[in-house]
Amino acid sequence: MECIFCQIMAGQIPCDRVYADDQVLAFLDIAPITRGHTLVVPKRHWTDLASAPVETAAAMMAAVKKIAPAVLETTGATAFNVGINNGAAAGQIVMHVHFHLIPRRADDGLRSWPHQKYGPGEGAALARQIAATVG
Ligand code: AMP
Ligand code: ZN
Repeated sequence: MECIFCQIMAGQIPCDRVYADDQVLAFLDIAPITRGHTLVVPKRHWTDLASAPVETAAAMMAAVKKIAPAVLETTGATAFNVGINNGAAAGQIVMHVHFHLIPRRADDGLRSWPHQKYGPGEGAALARQIAATVG
């Protein structure tokens, strides 16, 4: 078994567990962006959000909602980011879908992503194209 998160699920690699239910295991990221950075991972292997069933995605988000208040209370953080690096170009390294739950505070020094601008009509045209392509 090559997938490191599947190895964690199988108990072959240890983790600092914070939560588990039927479908999901959550544990501390080994290289945290901030203290308490938690990974919320489905027990069953799915490569990414596109391949995971909607029930799995829902179970992951339910776990995030459950865990987040405890992470904030415990770390003293006042906010959090939730994100998925979906695909290699987006920074996904472990090819087993997972949410990052990253505790934040006003003075943590982390920057948000830079923004761009659309030209006239460009956003509207792009939105129409995407809307027409949504399954
Ligand atoms: P991603 O770039 O979204 O695939 O994120 C993978 C995350 O998994 C990174 O933040 C790593 O620090 C984390 N990670 C890798 N191996 C382990 C491990 N054995 N235990 C906990 N976190 C890990
Ligand atoms: Zn896996």
